[in-house]
Order: sequence, then C-alpha cells, then structure tokens
Amino acid sequence: MNQAHSSIESFDTAPARLTIHLDHVVANWRSLSRLAGKASVSAVVKADAYGLGLEEVSAALSRAGCRDFFAATIAEGARLRKILPDARIFILTGMWDGQQETVIAHRLIPALASIEQLSLFLALCRDRGPLPFAIHVDTGMNRLGLTPEQAIHLGADAHFSARFKPELIMSHLACPDEPTHTMNPMQLQAFQRVASAFKGVESSLSGSAGIFLGPDYHFDLVRPGIALYGGQAVNNVPNPMLPGVTAEARILQIRTVAAGDTASYGATHRFDADSRLAIVGAGYADGWHRAMSGSGVAFRSLKVPGAHGVVKDFSVPLVGRITMDLSIFDVSALPENYIACGDYIEIFGNYVSLDDTARAAGTIGYELLTSLGSRYVRRYRG
Ligand SMILES: *Cc1c(COP(=O)(O)O)cnc(C)c1O
Repeated sequence: MNQAHSSIESFDTAPARLTIHLDHVVANWRSLSRLAGKASVSAVVKADAYGLGLEEVSAALSRAGCRDFFAATIAEGARLRKILPDARIFILTGMWDGQQETVIAHRLIPALASIEQLSLFLALCRDRGPLPFAIHVDTGMNRLGLTPEQAIHLGADAHFSARFKPELIMSHLACPDEPTHTMNPMQLQAFQRVASAFKGVESSLSGSAGIFLGPDYHFDLVRPGIALYGGQAVNNVPNPMLPGVTAEARILQIRTVAAGDTASYGATHRFDADSRLAIVGAGYADGWHRAMSGSGVAFRSLKVPGAHGVVKDFSVPLVGRITMDLSIFDVSALPENYIACGDYIEIFGNYVSLDDTARAAGTIGYELLTSLGSRYVRRYRG
C-alpha cells in the first residue's frame, strides 16, 4: 500500500477524498479486450497508474487476467515487481548505464529506444546470459525510439537475429485521438514495414485511442492507459468508459454574501445578487488547477466559465480563485437547508466527467489525474 493512502483522517470527514473504482477499471479493461479482438490488452500503469495507485490498480487488473504492464521508469517497475511476481513488466524509458543490476534483479523488460541503449543491453546479455528486452521504434512522434531504418536494418541482421530475440517491437501514435488525421495511416504503414522485419516477434502500436482506430492498428498487443481509468481517449465522440475515480471535497463552511461583495484572492468575482457560498477543503495543492476558476484567474480578459461541481444532483459553479487548500462554490440555486457543512461536493467522477472538468481548466484528463496530490483520503471500491 502506498504510504499516502493510510491516513489518520477518516474517509467520512476528510477535507478531500477520492473513491477509486477498481471494479470500473477492470470493466474498462474487459471492454477494451473485446474491442481489441485477438490482440492482448496490457495495462499502462506509469505515474502511479495515472494517480489512482500503482499497486491497487495493478493487482486488480492482474486478478482479472492482465499479464503485461508498462511502467515509465525502473523505479516504478521495481515497485510493481514486488506485487506481481509473474507479470511481464516493460519500462518505457529503456535502460541506462548504472541501471543494469536493478533491471536484472527485478526482471524488468526495457523498451530500448536508441542504438546506444541497445549496445549497452546487448553487452549486458553477453556478460550475464540472455535477458528479455523490447525495441521501441519512432514512426513519427519524434520522441523516443530507433528510426524505422535502424530497426529494419537490425531485423535483417542475421548475426543479431541468431543471438537475440526481442520480446516486443513497439511504436507510439502521435494523433490517434483524431481518427481522420493523416499521421495515423502514415505511422501505421511505417510500423507495418518494421514489424515485418521482425518475424515471430510480438508487435504493438496503439495506446487507448489507437484501439478505436480498428483492427489494423491492434497488432499483437495494445497498451491502454487513460481509457482504463475512465478518461476520454478519442475526441468528439461519446466516451464509452466507466469513471475510474471520483474526487470530492467537504463543505467546511456555508456563508452568505451581499450583492456587490467579492470572493477570494484578487476579489475577481463580484456577486450581482445576495448569494450563498460553500467553502470546500480542496485547492490547487490537491490538483484542482487554479485555471479551473475560469474568469476568476488573473490575466484572462474573456469571461470564460470555470468548472462546476455537483452536490445532491445540483450543478454548482466554482467562483473566485481556487486557493491552495480551499475552493468556493456558489450554491445560491439550491433550496435553503438542502445542504449542510459536512456534505461533499464532487469535482469530477460520477456526475461531472473528468474531461469536462479538465477542459474547464484548459487541460486534459491525463494531467488532472496525475496532479491529484497525496493529501486525499482514498477509498478503493471493488
Ligand atoms: C503513456 C503511453 C501509453 C498509454 O497511452 P494512453 O493514451 O493513456 O492510452 C502507451 N504507450 C506509450 C509509449 C506511452 O507513453
């Protein structure tokens, strides 16, 4: 268990709390498995499983039958190995000099992304006997990976293939969230050429969004992250995934203000009428990005809406600047005495989508999830 998860604060009184729906994460993995057909579905659990908890999420997916996991770093991989003795654990940043012993000790599979990393790893295999590795090829993202030419050259090298067999050959799509983008078929073609140079080696091209591009994009293995956690993978279509996490904050005080009053730092929000406010116990230190305050943020000349929360079926707007530990909602629309101190306002999860809240902050669900912070009291469901 993550240290941050054990708290002296109870879930029922915590200023800020998260409900992690492991049952939904597992259900999402199963629906992606149906979509992926013959391809097997791994789980990308980098960055603490996008903030939901590396150990809890990975254990639940492993119980459901997931065999392959992707971490970003060897530190994440080593943590994962402690709870998953038999899984294949791939490391997306590969392996650097100095990391050899950790890779061997925890049986990690680095996705080697350059000729330098490859040489280092093959030297290690010559010393210590065969070790599993993957090859990451860049087909247009221009981030990590061998060039397609380097990879094809390697695949055609009889000396190499007689002695080394990668576990996986992989690449990553740049624009899969835009199904009609010309980068998609371009990268697909480039990757098909690379994969055919590695006969009998498993291949993988797609994360969450690529799964929705159809069977051509599935190859042997797909690597979803955000869709497992309930985020929107493909732009401008209904999101079929179940929410992986609900974030809520407790109402600590309810106060009334008069027309003409203002709220929070900078006095940026002025009330047109007498109003009722609910002050809740989460702020930007809990990943409630300050930009969610909408027009309450300095330097925004346009009157843009901020995020909304939901309390007992009512949608309530955030008003004024979000502060480090506290945020303010306008609850004037609710019947009097309908809510009280101690009630919780949801910022995203069951009633407000992660992506709508992220959009109000000018960002994406991925960033919202990975900035949730360690102060929440967490409850794991399922
Ligand atoms: C993060 C990542 C994924 C998962 O992407 P999602 O969009 O969250 O599904 C897959 N592959 C690579 C190489 C990644 O870096």
